[in-house]
Amino acid sequence: MIKTIRGTRDILPPESGLFAYVESVAREVFRRFNFDEIRTPVFEKAELFARSVGEETDIVSKEMYTFTDRDGTALALRPEATASVVRAFLEHQMGNEPGLKRFYYLGPMFRRERPQKGRYRQFFQIGAEVLGGDHPALDAEVIEMVTEYLRCLGIQEFSLLLNSIGDRQCRPAFLQALRVAAEPVKEKLCENCRRRLVTNPLRILDCKEESCQPYIDQFPSILDFLCAACGAHFEKLRALLDERGLRYQLTPRMVRGLDYYTRTTFEITSDLLGAQNSLLGGGRYDGLSEMLGGPPVKGIGFAIGLDRFVLVLSQIRPALGEDPVQLFVAWLGPKAFSKAYELTQKCRQTGVRCVIEFEELKLKKALSNADRMKAGHVLIVGEDEIARNSFQLKDMKAGSQESLSESELLARLSSLPGRL
Ligand code: AMP
Repeated sequence: MIKTIRGTRDILPPESGLFAYVESVAREVFRRFNFDEIRTPVFEKAELFARSVGEETDIVSKEMYTFTDRDGTALALRPEATASVVRAFLEHQMGNEPGLKRFYYLGPMFRRERPQKGRYRQFFQIGAEVLGGDHPALDAEVIEMVTEYLRCLGIQEFSLLLNSIGDRQCRPAFLQALRVAAEPVKEKLCENCRRRLVTNPLRILDCKEESCQPYIDQFPSILDFLCAACGAHFEKLRALLDERGLRYQLTPRMVRGLDYYTRTTFEITSDLLGAQNSLLGGGRYDGLSEMLGGPPVKGIGFAIGLDRFVLVLSQIRPALGEDPVQLFVAWLGPKAFSKAYELTQKCRQTGVRCVIEFEELKLKKALSNADRMKAGHVLIVGEDEIARNSFQLKDMKAGSQESLSESELLARLSSLPGRL
């Protein structure tokens, strides 16, 4: 038997229903904040990610699925979508249009990580990006939008971690201080940290190795190194979050795994997840456009891990993905099928989820099939009922039954709740 590739999976009902639900809530919440959908390709030139996410990051150096196209071009399955959105912004010269551009996207991303609960090699993200501005109120609004999304999904237990990692002005001094602090204890750090000390010292701060922690705790804090402009931006953002009652934890060691970030970075974690507790992450990337060869364009965004949202929701609202049959149409007598089918069509047009059997069944068998499908109602269409324009609608939960004419039936179904 051919099976799925390690780290990928089939998403089956009812879990697929949960995915559809979290996606539809995201679309609705983001619409209220004036975001529009953008769809970019699943594969791009590998160079796009090397230049933006960064050659030295784990994502690009170890986890990216790259391959050579038949014409020799190095391609990659996208490990994330921010770089693609900025590429599209530049390619379509959207910077020439006035105002901010607000986009959201959703779809699969690919990273060759070690699979575990909540971590896959193909996983789903919903993300949003705002291009063309760097007002701290924009950062606050984006953070507010993700917390609003969590509220709409009914996820109340989460932590918002916040940091600023400075910009091209102030970060070099911090990196230098980090190198100075790390140098004397270099031998005690893990191999990854020793390598990063040379290639990308900032990333030492989010090393997960237990033995490195006591040393990292002693390293300087980026917040003490912010230049006046970055400091003021961060102060203003914090004041806005406070004003709106959005509680956060200041986390100076949170640097995130992508090189394009500047200033604000944030993450939302949940205790309902295991070791992979990060639900979403984001931040500002004011230099990204230039890294891709474009003009200066300020930007901020985030990416939500859908698989992890579904894991959390399946714990706190397990019935959410279920969408059972609302109406099971049972017909009795060889002449009843045509009318029963016509009624089914009309019921479907009212928005009700219907099923009709193609072979005639005894009523008892039909009811047991309806029961197995957890159908909410059964409509009984016999030859007598057709002649009298009076159909039996059985409420499977209450056990009650009522006689309705065709028009009464359709009116009654229109008032059924669309989703259980
Ligand atoms: P990142 O793009 O690394 O900033 O990650 C943003 C979010 O995507 C994380 O908070 C996770 O929820 C999710 N995510 C990242 N990598 C994976 C993965 N391999 N499997 C499942 N979800 C992931």
